[in-house]
Amino acid sequence: MKTTLIMCIFALSFGTLYASSATEPIKQTILADSVKIDPICKMKVKQPANYKSTYKKQEYWFCAKGCKVKFDKNPVKYLKNN
Ligand SMILES: [Zn+2]
Repeated sequence: MKTTLIMCIFALSFGTLYASSATEPIKQTILADSVKIDPICKMKVKQPANYKSTYKKQEYWFCAKGCKVKFDKNPVKYLKNN
């Protein structure tokens, strides 16, 4: 009887741990943190990416060098479309 009770408590706490580690908001935060949107082609860019520009203290990430070059030439044009 005592053993069954301990087993139950163990299973319960284990289940709670699993549930809290699998909750959606945490996953989404990680995703938002590690993936940025390329302002030129709207592609998702995984972090850390090779191509980055800083404009008005804001960082922008690019899928390829071509996108970064386009952005650097005229950042305002692409940021207006957002
Ligand atoms: Zn791109």
